Amino acid sequence: MRPAALFPLFRPLASLPGLGPKLAKLAEKLTGPHAVDLLWHLPCGIIDRRFQPKIAQAPHGRVATLTVRVDQHVPPLGPRYPYKVRCTDETGVLELIYFHARADWLERLLPLGRTMVVSGTVEWFQETLQMNHPDAVLPEDQRDTLEVVEPVYPMTAGLPAKTLRRAVKAALDLIPDLPEWQDGPWLARQSWPGWADALRRAHNPDTESELDPLSPARRRLAYDELLANQVALALVRRQQRKLAGRMLAGDGRLRAKALAALPFRLTGSQEGALAEIFADMGADRRMLRLLQGDVGSGKTVVALMALLNAVETGAQGALMAPTEILARQHAETLAPLLDAAGVGWAVLTGRDKGKARAAVLERLASGDIGVLIGTHALFQEDVGFHDLGVAVIDEQHRFGVHQRLQLSAKGRAVDVLVMTATPIPRTLTLTAYGDMDVSRLTEKPAGRKPIQTVTVALDRLEEVVAGIRRKVAEGARAYWVCPLVEESEQVDLAAATERHAFLRAGFGDRVGLVHGKMKAADKDAVMAAFAEGRLDVLVATTVIEVGVNVPEATVMVIEHAERFGLAQLHQLRGRVGRGAAASTCLLLFDPHLTETARQRLKTIRETEDGFLIAEEDLRLRGAGEVLGTRQSGLPSFRLADLEVHGDLLPVARDDAQLIVNKDPELSGPRGQAVRTLLYLFERDAAARTLRSG
Ligand code: ADP
Ligand code: MG
Repeated sequence: MRPAALFPLFRPLASLPGLGPKLAKLAEKLTGPHAVDLLWHLPCGIIDRRFQPKIAQAPHGRVATLTVRVDQHVPPLGPRYPYKVRCTDETGVLELIYFHARADWLERLLPLGRTMVVSGTVEWFQETLQMNHPDAVLPEDQRDTLEVVEPVYPMTAGLPAKTLRRAVKAALDLIPDLPEWQDGPWLARQSWPGWADALRRAHNPDTESELDPLSPARRRLAYDELLANQVALALVRRQQRKLAGRMLAGDGRLRAKALAALPFRLTGSQEGALAEIFADMGADRRMLRLLQGDVGSGKTVVALMALLNAVETGAQGALMAPTEILARQHAETLAPLLDAAGVGWAVLTGRDKGKARAAVLERLASGDIGVLIGTHALFQEDVGFHDLGVAVIDEQHRFGVHQRLQLSAKGRAVDVLVMTATPIPRTLTLTAYGDMDVSRLTEKPAGRKPIQTVTVALDRLEEVVAGIRRKVAEGARAYWVCPLVEESEQVDLAAATERHAFLRAGFGDRVGLVHGKMKAADKDAVMAAFAEGRLDVLVATTVIEVGVNVPEATVMVIEHAERFGLAQLHQLRGRVGRGAAASTCLLLFDPHLTETARQRLKTIRETEDGFLIAEEDLRLRGAGEVLGTRQSGLPSFRLADLEVHGDLLPVARDDAQLIVNKDPELSGPRGQAVRTLLYLFERDAAARTLRSG
């Protein structure tokens, strides 16, 4: 449970002064639902009111604070004219300009003859200095109450800056006194302030330099967030391993049969990864291993061997894919091998219903099914295994940590192997997977030819079509990927449909179309037709991005390639170059492209190395986007920016490990403080793995 000390920070925004239900909603969109979210919303600028010139010295266009005497009120000449208040000091005249203001209100605000402090942006208009709607107006004797340096926050339309500032101030007042969770000596070495102090400083910058993410206050806050992330991951991992693992070491008989049925030999990388996996499975602790391998590096066979190892011991294995298509494709690939090994298998996805589903569940519960292949549907409550020993999760970046926990709860001490086709830069592997063990497939299966990648301007479309016609005549099969238009599947679809019609006009009816809006069965039928060679060209939206395997396809056309991210381009290109024949990837681009887009195309043209592309992607886009955070449930950081705070990540990781090793239940003094930190950053799921106390 969340510690009581944090309750005030988890009050809803609407409970803060100035935020009615309507404005609270706007603020919520901007920052998040709780007071604490305002604390994480750091200023991006300052307004400095310390500059206090005389009228004559005030420069045009700057924020200035002036001390002036009110000389004259000049009501508007007509409805479209402003109300003016003439003020002076010994050097000149300042006119305060108000549109749509009430005279009586202004007369009270600026009494004739009084000396006032006014602050705002000043501008010269002919010989007169003017200030439109001053930000602050105070009698001279209240000068001290003027906020001399005002933080400026990232805003959203409709939410007044003043309102947001006031709410943040109120949130700052709610900061409780919390014990320090950072290591004392480390904190001292860094000369970082305490947490509360760091927040107050970050929200009340005195100078531009305090807005720097490298300022002590901001680095401290970034570290807090990274530490919470790393401790959470360490706890989840520990939880997964806490239940005594089981030793799954088969006798190899099924694996031998499957291997004999394979038309190829395993690569050195595959052998290496399997040695690590079998060692994990054979040890009496839980496996939690990440298998990273570029598209086409041959992860599926590795998964199969892990599954068979479990089945050899009498346990069961599950293979989970992120989409229906992928699950079916895995089943198709593995079926002959599982059959050859004499292992019962079945597919279970959201599409399976009624009697057929019930039958699968029954065979699963009886142990008749050795390997179950499916989608999220494997998580459903009524899915009960006879004895699940190993779970392989493909394309992990689409699943969250939470789902991983759910699946491994399906058996006792389930070994988990996570496979990702998106090579992730090392720094990011840490945030996403904590200290998961990692195996990498670096070698491509033998006989692969490099893919020739070319960029072509879109206005040469006709030539491209002619070129593809030649290739198809020689027996090639081609993918044609249509552009992704953000936030509008409708438009995506229109583009793909149109391209499909256009290509049909040239190629006849051996052109198919798949898109995300199709019924799964129709989609599968088209994919199958392409896989079996009844279609030469497959027009697709990005539904083919992940995992689809048609080794005979050797041409990939990506239209408006400049609109795709690097990782996506890499994934798409990886659909070809899977067979023995040489492959081509044509990137059609709109010549009016941004500099970043140009760099992306250059990178993708120059290398096929997924890890290199991932590093470049990180450089161009930043961490949150590389991980595809929003869709995946992976942590997104509010305070830490891995591009500038990346050096803190390994430190946070070591720190987290130390904390969790020394005090696994987080019950000692520092442990208790770290518990609070977890709740502060809403890593509640991880905190719940702990005994209460
Ligand atoms: P991914 O890592 O993208 O999931 P796959 O497992 O789908 O890759 O493998 C891609 C292709 O490479 C498949 O057609 C597979 O049969 C083939 N393959 C896998 N391992 C080898 C190998 N050692 N030698 C030759 N081909 C292989
Ligand atoms: Mg795969």
